[in-house]
Amino acid sequence: MLGAMMHKDLLISDLIVHAGKYHADTEIVSRETTGDMNTTTWSAVASSSRQLASALGTLGLDHGDRVATLAWNNHRHLKIWFAVSGSGLVCHTLNPRLPPEQFIFICNDAADKAIFFDKTFMPLITGTKAHLKTIEHFIFMGPRDEEVAAALPEAIFFDELIEKGDADYDWPQFSENTPCSLCYTSGTTGNPKGVLYYHRSTMLHTLAISLPDALSLSSRETILPVVPMFHANAWGIPYAAAMTGAKLVMPGPGLDGDSLLQLIDDYGVSLALGVPTIWMMLLASAAKSGSKMESLKRNVIGGSAAAPSMIAAFRDEYDCDTIHAWGMTETSPLGSANVPKGKHDDLDADTLAALRLGQGRPPFGIDLRIVDDEGNPLPHDGEAQGALQVRGHWVVETYFGKDQSATTEDGWFDTGDVSTIDADGYMVIRDRTKDIIKSGGEWISSVDLENIAVSHPGVAMAAAIGAVHPKWDERPIVVAVKAEGADPKEDDILALFDGKVAKWQIPDAVVFTDAIPLNATGKMLKNQLREQFGNLLIEREE
Ligand code: ADP
Repeated sequence: MLGAMMHKDLLISDLIVHAGKYHADTEIVSRETTGDMNTTTWSAVASSSRQLASALGTLGLDHGDRVATLAWNNHRHLKIWFAVSGSGLVCHTLNPRLPPEQFIFICNDAADKAIFFDKTFMPLITGTKAHLKTIEHFIFMGPRDEEVAAALPEAIFFDELIEKGDADYDWPQFSENTPCSLCYTSGTTGNPKGVLYYHRSTMLHTLAISLPDALSLSSRETILPVVPMFHANAWGIPYAAAMTGAKLVMPGPGLDGDSLLQLIDDYGVSLALGVPTIWMMLLASAAKSGSKMESLKRNVIGGSAAAPSMIAAFRDEYDCDTIHAWGMTETSPLGSANVPKGKHDDLDADTLAALRLGQGRPPFGIDLRIVDDEGNPLPHDGEAQGALQVRGHWVVETYFGKDQSATTEDGWFDTGDVSTIDADGYMVIRDRTKDIIKSGGEWISSVDLENIAVSHPGVAMAAAIGAVHPKWDERPIVVAVKAEGADPKEDDILALFDGKVAKWQIPDAVVFTDAIPLNATGKMLKNQLREQFGNLLIEREE
C-alpha cells in the first residue's frame, strides 16, 4: 500500500455534531408561531436533534422514508432538518403557499409518511387531510395544544415526542450517496417536480456557498435567512450556518418589513437573504422608521432579478453590499453569486456598480454554458445570448420518481433561462425562455424594461410582457403597480426609456394594475398577465 487517507462519508449529521461541539454557545434566535421570541444554542440544537432522531425511530419509519415539514423558519424546524436527514430519512419541505390541490399532489407524489406542522398551517392540514393518502403521523410543532388535539385527534406533539428519544443516540453512518432531502419546484407550468438531494451533494454545496467568493460565511456572522426553509432549502443557509458556526436569527411567520427591521436592529443581523419582494418591504419600513440598519453589512438577493435601483438603495442609503445570486431548486440552489475579483478593485464606481448588477459567477463545483437554438455552445464574450445550461456536483440528474434523465444528451441541465456570460464567468440573466419578448424576430429582454420602469419612484413593481401586435407579432408593454401614495402617468414612465434602450425596444404602452400575481416562491406570474393584458394593443387600436 502506498498510503491512504481516512475515508469518511459526507453526512448532514456531521454538520450538527461540529456546530454542537465547536460553536456550542452560539445562539439561535427564532420568532415562534405565537410571536414570542426563543433563544437557544447550537449545543442545544445538536442534542435535541439527536434526541428527536431517536424518537423518530419509535414511529416505525424506514430508512429513506419521506418526512414532510410545513413550517416557518424556527428552531424546531432546524432540529427536524438535522434529525430527519441525519437519521437516514428524507426531509421534504412543503411550500404552504401552493394551491391546496398542488399541495395534495406533492404529498402524495412524495409518499410522505409523516408531517411536522406549525400552528399557522392547521387549516391546510385539516382541510386536505382526507386526500393525503400516505401520511401516518401528524406532528404538531409545539407543546401539547388542546385546540390542535380537538381539530386533529391523532396529532402527536413535538415537545412530547422528543421526550421519548435518547439524547445519547449515535448518528448512523451510511453512504454519502443517500437521499437527505426533497424539494419540489414551484410548478409555474404543469405539476411541480421533486428534486431529491443527496448527503454528498448537499455537503459539497454547503462548503461551496460558504467560500469567500460565494456568500463568505463565518462564525463572525449573524445571519437572517428570510428565504423560507421550504424555498430551495433556504438556499442552504441552515446547513452552512452549522458548518461555519454562524449565529442564526430565524424570522418565523414575521416576514413583513417592520418585523424584519426589528429583528435586524434588535439582534445585530449582519447578513440577510431573501427574494426581491422582501427587500422592497424592508426598505419601505426602514425609510418610514428612520433606522439605518447599522449592523446589516451585506444582503443576498436571489430567486428573481434584483432591480438596479434596489441594489443602489442598499449601497447608498444603508451602506449594505448586495450579493446578487442566481439558482434554482434543481441546483440546490446556488449556481452563481456576484462577488468582484481582485482585479476589479481599480474600477471606477460606476463600472463596478454595473458589473455588480448581474447574477455573478459560478463557485467551484458548478459549470455554466450558453447554447443557441441547435444546442451549439456560444462564446463567453458578454455579448452572445443563449439558453443557460448548468452541470455540477449539486445539479439534478433525474427528478423524483421519474425514469428519464432531466439532462441533455451531453449531460447538461437546461435552466429555462436566457443569459450572457463574459470571459471572467460573470453571467447575466436576460430573461426566462418563455418570457422573452420577440418583436419582429428580434429579442427584447423583459428584465431590462422592468429595471427601467421600477427606477421611477412612483412604481412599486413592474412586469414587461409581450402583447400581441398585428405587424410585429409581439410588442413590449409594461404592467405596473403604483407605489403607495404615488400617481405616475403612462407618459412619465414611457419617457424614462428614451436613450436607455434602442428605440424599437421602448414599450408601446404602460398599464397600471392593483397587484401583480406572484407564485409560491415570489416570482411574477407573467402567463397570467399575458392572459389579462396580452390583447391590450389590439384593443387600443380598435
Ligand atoms: P421555479 O423554477 O420552480 O419557479 P426556482 O425557485 O427553482 O423555482 O426558480 C428558479 C428560477 O428563478 C431560475 O431559473 C431563474 O429564472 C429565476 N431566478 C433565480 N434567481 C434569479 C436572479 N438572481 N435573477 C433572475 N432570475 C432568477
